[in-house]
Amino acid sequence: MGAPPATPLDHLVAAARGAADAAGAWLAGLRPPLRKATTPATPSFPGAAKAAARVTREDVGRATWTLLHSVAAAYPERPSRAQRRAAAALVDSLAALYPCAECADHFREHVKHRPVDASSGAGLRTWACEVHNDVNDALAKPRHPCAPPALARRWPALECEVDGRVACAVHRK
Ligand SMILES: Cc1cc2nc3c(=O)[nH]c(=O)nc-3n(C[C@H](O)[C@H](O)[C@H](O)COP(=O)(O)OP(=O)(O)OC[C@H]3O[C@@H](n4cnc5c(N)ncnc54)[C@H](O)[C@@H]3O)c2cc1C
Repeated sequence: MGAPPATPLDHLVAAARGAADAAGAWLAGLRPPLRKATTPATPSFPGAAKAAARVTREDVGRATWTLLHSVAAAYPERPSRAQRRAAAALVDSLAALYPCAECADHFREHVKHRPVDASSGAGLRTWACEVHNDVNDALAKPRHPCAPPALARRWPALECEVDGRVACAVHRK
């Protein structure tokens, strides 16, 4: 006996299957070929491999000290009132927002006993060195000499020029 005649529903099901197969083949064409899991991905930008690593408390500490000592190295000997306010605000902001609550609490205590001296470049450099030594003491790390020549050797003003102009000095206002 032959197969029963196809109903309209059979036609519909066959058409839907055909469409699904075609869509599957199309998607397979889009999919990238499987790569062996051991193949390392090429970093997409310089430093990408480092960026993927977790930032540690030590990383943030070193970066923050670099910022503070570099700001101090470029800070004018006769700062304007706005610059003095900005330096004090930078220290206040660090004490409030430092991304390690315990470190921020300790830092606030240090600053209470050793208020920031933003009255001159020499004052800010010495203060940054001394407050860093306060933190070093608390962490049983070696102290750094705070005499101006030793500080200038470790934290000289930045070197950068754009079109022959020094581009790293602090703004005059
Ligand atoms: C505001 C603040 C508070 C912190 N509080 C804590 C905390 O409570 N607990 C904690 O575990 N970590 C804290 N840290 C981090 C800690 O101070 C270090 O940054 C971190 O442990 C990495 O230490 P390091 O040995 O690489 O050198 P760092 O102390 O980061 O110093 C960087 C470089 O600065 C130079 N240097 C060292 N001392 C001085 C100085 N006195 N003056 C000038 N230059 C100097 C040295 O060449 C050194 O290699 C704090 C950091 C900051 C910025």
